[in-house]
Amino acid sequence: MFCNDPATGLKSIIAIHDTSLGPSLGGTRMWNYQHESDALVDVLRLSRGMTFKSAISGINLGGGKAVIIGDSHKDKSEMMWRRYGKFVDSLGGKYITAEDVGTSTQDIEYIFQETKHVAGKPKYLNGSGDPSPFTAYGVYLGMKASCKKAKGNDSLTGLKITVQGVGHVGYYLVDHLLKEGAIVSICDINQNNIKLVTDKHQVNVIDVKDVYTHPCDIYAPCALGATVNNDTLEHLKCSIIAGAANNQLQSEKIHGDIVKQRGIVYAPDFLINAGGVINCYIEVCGEYNEERSMKFIEKIYDRSLEIFALSDKENINNQEAAIKIAKQRIESARTLNGRR
Ligand code: NAD
Repeated sequence: MFCNDPATGLKSIIAIHDTSLGPSLGGTRMWNYQHESDALVDVLRLSRGMTFKSAISGINLGGGKAVIIGDSHKDKSEMMWRRYGKFVDSLGGKYITAEDVGTSTQDIEYIFQETKHVAGKPKYLNGSGDPSPFTAYGVYLGMKASCKKAKGNDSLTGLKITVQGVGHVGYYLVDHLLKEGAIVSICDINQNNIKLVTDKHQVNVIDVKDVYTHPCDIYAPCALGATVNNDTLEHLKCSIIAGAANNQLQSEKIHGDIVKQRGIVYAPDFLINAGGVINCYIEVCGEYNEERSMKFIEKIYDRSLEIFALSDKENINNQEAAIKIAKQRIESARTLNGRR
């Protein structure tokens, strides 16, 4: 749905990819896209990712996402967000929105004034709060499962781990890794975010341009997508790739196959970074319960091992194996609900 409102300057696209399992849920990204077509490509790609993420996580949500075209530092206003909230509301709950890049807690509050179809609300609005610590926990568990597959045991103690990007998720991930005795290196383009980590922990700080050549056992992309590509694979010498970033493989087929052929265990991104959406799901189910959320997120460990086993059995790459399982669950739900 294209949502334009000249009075407030709102230019937005809401994409609902699939609702076989339940209402679509995904954040609203505010980004200064050069062309409207770039925004469209992005929102369609992201909403597809949400479908698979929820499906593989065993939660009853479909895939959706929204983008707002504009500079999040100067193009926001209360009325723009409230107008956007009215568009979300007009979908009658088929799309539930949440925070994403360029969206703040304040923006969510404005949207919430116009629609109840919002998740990841702050705790003072009876929401589940920032999803990032939950995402980080899931990534940590997915990383441990990857380690079990690569090395036969899941201990991260003594392993060299490079975390690319210590923003909301990377910051909490570093906590888990250090607690388990990993040797952590970090990089970020934002010196303030580096400082938040170094004020708390002793970690190696590396230059962003050295992130692919820096020797490590595990490379954890927690900043951008498409960092696993022909150029970076020339340098990466790790045995595991496991991180929070969405769409890490530039091409799911080409680069998913290359990492498998090289014996690198790649933890499918949408599988291990699902902690945040799982937490939102528990919120939209009714009274929020953190313990229930954590129990759900813990399933990421066993599910990762299942995916690795399927990948070996069928000789397909890990991303393909994860998509296969996600699609099977969507198909089963369609049959159950008489939609086929
Ligand atoms: P964020 O914006 O808070 O953090 C990203 C960090 O990466 C920032 O500190 C930024 O300065 C840094 N960065 C940007 N470009 C970089 C570069 N070239 N090299 C090194 N660092 C760079 O985002 P986040 O919420 O921590 O999410 C991280 C990734 O995980 C994103 O791709 C996001 O889509 C994905 N993700 C996040 C969540 C969540 O719960 N927050 C859930 C699922 C997926």
